Amino acid sequence: MKNYIKKINTILQMPIKLYIFKQIKCLIFMVLYTIFSLAFPGFISLIIDEGIKSCDIEKILFYCSAMLVCGLLMILFQYLQKVSFYKLAQQIVYNIKRTMFEKLLERNLKFWMNYQIGDVLRVLENDIDSIQNLLTGTISNLIINFFVAVGITIVFLIINPILGLIILLMAFLFASIQKKCGDKIQDGMSVLRLQMGELSSIINETLNHIATIQMADLTALERRRFDTKNRNVIQQFILQTKRVTIAQLIGMSFNVFGILAVLVVGAIEVLKGRLSIGVLFSLTIYIQRLYGPIVVLGTEYINIKNTKPMIEKILEILENEDSILAGKIDWICTKGEINFDDVSFKYKEKWILQNLTMEIPEKATIGIIGENGSGKSTLIKLLSKLCIPQSGMLYFDGISIDNITYESIKRNVTVIPQECFLPYGTLRDIMEIDSKEKENKMFEFMEKLGVSLEKFPDGLETELTENRGNLSGGEAQKLALIRGLLQNKSIYILDEPTAAMDLESERNFCNIVREYLTNKTVIIVTHRRELLTVCDKIITF
Ligand code: ATP
Ligand code: MG
Repeated sequence: MKNYIKKINTILQMPIKLYIFKQIKCLIFMVLYTIFSLAFPGFISLIIDEGIKSCDIEKILFYCSAMLVCGLLMILFQYLQKVSFYKLAQQIVYNIKRTMFEKLLERNLKFWMNYQIGDVLRVLENDIDSIQNLLTGTISNLIINFFVAVGITIVFLIINPILGLIILLMAFLFASIQKKCGDKIQDGMSVLRLQMGELSSIINETLNHIATIQMADLTALERRRFDTKNRNVIQQFILQTKRVTIAQLIGMSFNVFGILAVLVVGAIEVLKGRLSIGVLFSLTIYIQRLYGPIVVLGTEYINIKNTKPMIEKILEILENEDSILAGKIDWICTKGEINFDDVSFKYKEKWILQNLTMEIPEKATIGIIGENGSGKSTLIKLLSKLCIPQSGMLYFDGISIDNITYESIKRNVTVIPQECFLPYGTLRDIMEIDSKEKENKMFEFMEKLGVSLEKFPDGLETELTENRGNLSGGEAQKLALIRGLLQNKSIYILDEPTAAMDLESERNFCNIVREYLTNKTVIIVTHRRELLTVCDKIITF
C-alpha cells in the first residue's frame, strides 16, 4: 500500500492529500454546476403553473429573475469547474515534465543504452500530456457516472426486482467483456508506443543532422527508414482504433439489449398484471438514462487501459536509479592525481578496457594514443562518471570515483569531449563571462587561436544559433576549448582537441597548453603528432 501511494505521489508530483483536496475543490464546482443546471428548467413550470395560470405578474418577474440568477450561476460554476480542472491538470503536467527533464540530465550511460532517444521524447512530449485527462476528467467522470448508474439500478430493483436483476447481470456481462477488450487495448498501446518512439528517434536523428545527411547523399536511406516505421505505426494505429471502437460499441449494444430486455420482460409483467403500462414507459426512459453513464464508464475504463503503458513508462523513468549523481564525497582537488586500479569495462558483451592500471601524477601532461575503437573516449566517459567499471576502480586524489559527487567532479575537472557541442545562446552565456578579466582572457584566447571577431558582430551578446549553425567545425571546436580554458580548473581532459583545427591553429593551441596548463593535470587523447610534443609522457592503448 505504501509503495502504491509512493507511486501515485511520483506520478502526481504532489502529495496525494493535496491532490485529493484540489480534486474535491473541482468536484464541488462540478456538483454546484450540476445542481444549478438541474434546477434551471424547473423555473419554467413555476412560471407557467404559479405565474401565468394565476395571472400574477410579480410572481412571473420573481421566477424569471430567479431563473436568470440560476442560469448565471450555472454558467459561473461551469467556468470555475472547467478552469479548476484544467489548472490542476496543467500543474501536474508541468511538475512531471520539469522533474522528468531534470532526471534525464542526471541519467548515466547505462540508462541511455536502455532507452532510445525517440522513446524518451515521446514520454516528454506526448505521454505526459495524455495523462492529464486521466488525472482530472476521468476520475470525476468515473465517480459521478458510477453513482448515477448505481442509482438507476437501485430504482429498477425497487420497481421491479426481476428487471433489476436482469440489468445487474447485463452490467456484469458488459463489464467483463469490457475488461477483456481493455487488456487487448493496453497490450496494443504498449506496442504502438514502442513503434512511435522508434519513429520519433528517426525523425529526431534526421532533423538534427539534416545538412550532413543531404551532403552525404543519405536522404534515400533515411526516407526508406522513415517509410517503413511510419507504415508500421499507421497499421498498429488502425488496429488499435478498431479495438477501441469495438469496446465502445459494446456500450451501444448494452443500450439495444437493455431496451429489448425491459420491453420483453416488462410486457410479460404487464400482461400478468404485475406492472402498469405507465411504469413500463418510465422504465424504458430509465434504461435510456442508464446508457449514458454506462458508455462513459466503459470509455473511461478504456482510456485508463490506453494510458496505463504511458504511466508505466513515465514511472519507470522517474524511478530509474542509473544516475551520474550517486556518491557522497564532496571532493576538493588538492593534488590532481588520477589512478586507474585494475579497471575493466564493457558496454555490452565485448570488453573495451581490461585490467587497466595506470597512474597519472599531479600536474603531469599525459598523451593517450591508440587505434580507433581502442577505448580512449570510453576512458574519458569513465573519468566523467557517465559509467562505472564492472571491476576495478578509478581514483581522484586517492578517492574512488563512485564515492565522489558528480558536482564536485565538474567543479574540479574540465572535459572537452570528442563531439563538440555548443548550446544555443549568446557568447556571454556560453562562455559564462561574469567578469571583465574573464572577458579579456576570452578575447586573448580567441586571438591566439585565430578566431575572427567578425563572427561576433554584437560582441558578447552575439547569438550562436542552434547546433552552432553559424560556425565552422574548427571554429566551434576552438570556442569549446576556450570555454574550457576559461574555467581554470585543476584537471583537464581533452579528447581529440585539435581534430578539426588547421595546422597553425594546432601549433598555437600547443603553445596555450604549455603556457596555461603547466600547473594542471592534463590528459590529451589525440592522433596528432604535433600535440604530443606538449606531453610529458605518452601512453599507448
Ligand atoms: P576513436 O579513436 O575512433 O575516437 P576510441 O578509442 O575513442 O576511438 P571509443 O569511443 O572509446 O573508442 O569506443 C571503444 C569501443 O566501444 C568501440 O568499439 C565502440 O564501438 C564501443 N562503444 C562506444 N560507445 C558505445 C556505446 N554507447 N555502446 C556500445 N558500444 C560502444
Ligand atoms: Mg574517441
